[in-house]
Amino acid sequence: MELSPYLHGASPAALLVEDLAWGPSRRAPIVRDIGFSVSAGEMLAIVGPNGAGKSSLLRCLYRFHRPLAGRISLDGADIWRMPLRNVARRVATVLQEPAGDFGLTVAEVVELGLAPHAGKADRRETRLAIGAALDLLNLADLAHRSFTSLSGGEKQRVLIAKALVQKPDLLILDEPTNHLDIRHQLEVLALLSALPTTVIVSLHDLALASAHADRVLVLRDGRQVDCGPAAGVLTPDAIRETFSVETVIDRNPATGRPRFSFHLETHVQGSI
Ligand code: ADP
Ligand code: MG
Repeated sequence: MELSPYLHGASPAALLVEDLAWGPSRRAPIVRDIGFSVSAGEMLAIVGPNGAGKSSLLRCLYRFHRPLAGRISLDGADIWRMPLRNVARRVATVLQEPAGDFGLTVAEVVELGLAPHAGKADRRETRLAIGAALDLLNLADLAHRSFTSLSGGEKQRVLIAKALVQKPDLLILDEPTNHLDIRHQLEVLALLSALPTTVIVSLHDLALASAHADRVLVLRDGRQVDCGPAAGVLTPDAIRETFSVETVIDRNPATGRPRFSFHLETHVQGSI
């Protein structure tokens, strides 16, 4: 995949998370004992059941929640000691609940991604970056449609395009494939893994996480269970522990990648 030079960020960020805990009060931590690093340009997937704390952890990483304990550093600098403006320039997010009725067209929503760089980009470059992002996400035909008139999947792709024009050094996405059909899920994950930036993405689909992420972090009940390459982390035993399902992992004969099949318990009545 060729990424337009107008979407190239300057310097992918390295992220370090140490002994992180967050909750609405000290007595009720929602995520705790979290520690991992993501190197520049790497893609980390975060998986875990509903309510495991994925969104809460991501909110800490983009400096929305202030941690109860621990530290998050971007290229060695504590994000709570950096000017907010620097974090806003370097980190882009694609979140689950798009802020409702903008009254804007698709192209205008994508242009909002340039807001953190206000005053810096020239008009021609701006236009080219928006065009490149719309093309990349198959949105060119929708450029002049009103954002609110789009389907959930189309909106999700627009918000990804908006994040890309920001040229972030760290891109954080919370379940970006939720509303997407199968084709767009595969395209978006292929795009994310090819981006020359650091990507942290929460995903429900373990096969997508395994196929595209460099490493996978597993969360259960707010705690980090494991973090590493998918082959070692997403094993049938580990998936049973965390998701309470049985898994058969074999190889997809077409792609050679691991194929995950799930069931509730062993139904096969084996012959003796
Ligand atoms: P996930 O994204 O993995 O589904 P969340 O991070 O959204 O999980 O939520 C984890 C748990 O924390 C849930 O039980 C949720 O209700 C709770 N929670 C999240 N944010 C808050 C908050 N601000 N105040 C109280 N509880 C919260
Ligand atoms: Mg969530």
